[in-house]
Amino acid sequence: MNAEILCVGTELLLGGTVNTNATYLSKGLAAIGVSVYHHSVVGDNPQRLKDSLNLALSRADLVILTGGLGPTYDDLTKEMVAEYFHREMQLHEESLQRITEYFHKIGREMTENNKKQALMPKGAVVFQNNHGTAPGLAVEEHGKMAILLPGPPREMQPMFDEEVLPFLQKRSHVVFVSQNIHIFGMGESKVESILKPLMLESLNPTVAPYAKDGEVMLRVTASARDEQTAHAMTKPMVEKICGILGDVVYGVDIGDLQTAAVKKLKELGLKVATSESCTGGFVSKRLTEVPGSSAVFECGVCSYANRIKEQVLGVCKETLEQYGAVSRQTAQEMAQGVRKLAGADIGISTTGIAGPDGGTKEKPVGLVYVGVDSAWYSDVIELHLSRGRVNERDLIRYLAASHALDQILKACKAYEKRQGTLEPQR
Ligand code: AMP
Ligand code: MG
Repeated sequence: MNAEILCVGTELLLGGTVNTNATYLSKGLAAIGVSVYHHSVVGDNPQRLKDSLNLALSRADLVILTGGLGPTYDDLTKEMVAEYFHREMQLHEESLQRITEYFHKIGREMTENNKKQALMPKGAVVFQNNHGTAPGLAVEEHGKMAILLPGPPREMQPMFDEEVLPFLQKRSHVVFVSQNIHIFGMGESKVESILKPLMLESLNPTVAPYAKDGEVMLRVTASARDEQTAHAMTKPMVEKICGILGDVVYGVDIGDLQTAAVKKLKELGLKVATSESCTGGFVSKRLTEVPGSSAVFECGVCSYANRIKEQVLGVCKETLEQYGAVSRQTAQEMAQGVRKLAGADIGISTTGIAGPDGGTKEKPVGLVYVGVDSAWYSDVIELHLSRGRVNERDLIRYLAASHALDQILKACKAYEKRQGTLEPQR
């Protein structure tokens, strides 16, 4: 089944409202294997809405519309859809009752035009609205279906999740299974260029890339008559892709870097400690977000001031004077220092310039060093995380923390390679 999302509302065209409904619906439909081919937006104008609806239903099996289900004169979506399917409008008693109860509950008087929300095209399937007044609905004929949902996201989202998704799933005779491959350290375009032939030729399972926050996720989705068969189809594809991409894959269905790091540390019985300057505790925050991280996380030192780098972490005064706080040498000594301080197996450090101020020609905004220290693996990586945009501070700090988490995984990998030949030394 392929679908189109048609969002109705002049406010969307004026730019005052971000079209979050389209994103939300697309994600939900992708999860059940419905391909979304178009997103469109139209204002509250009868002729243009009619044209958009005609176009959408001419090219998609399913059109999901949001917005325009309200009680006022410019809420036209239901009427336009009824006209398209040649259905009369009928009072839906149950909806009227629910709307009346809703007004009673919130202590407001119900006006005559609210009753309009209980009018439904004949034969429509009605979806209840537990968070507002406008019910949703589905109308179907000759293999074409329109589903209408209210505009406000807090009404639309629960209705979609609780009623529409099960409704759509019940109608399809196939099940979909997805596996997510998580990648760090390779950009989306590189991943795509490597996997392009595979992505083009593989229709079941499909392989789709998603890039977000400096990471790439590949979703492998198979459809089959039952879950077991679908899973048996994704598995070899996932193995094949992991084999092709190698070390940049940090996990399958693992969620995020911090979960992967905590899981790996736990598996290996290793403990980590962090010393953070530019990330200000972001690495320890992300690690401790993961339930059970107390088994692997010893301590985090947020060592912003040089005095703390010296006194708490034991970074040499000379190092700070000669190379500066943002330097390879300082990063290395911070990682060593916190490892020693905590008696951990792995020490991690971050030091850099998150901006917007503080950059120089030699040390520009976005320059970050991430250090890792252990008995078997020590390294300092130099990163240039600025993309020249405004308000990059948060992004630079987030990406620096991601690299630090990735360094934990690198240290774990190195440990695994040497496991059996070296006991962890503290
Ligand atoms: P409506 O159902 O058309 O009366 O929409 C009511 C409100 O829902 C609008 O004023 C917006 O705040 C919100 N809304 C409508 N469509 C969208 C959309 N596509 N994405 C996010 N919010 C929306
Ligand atoms: Mg509207």
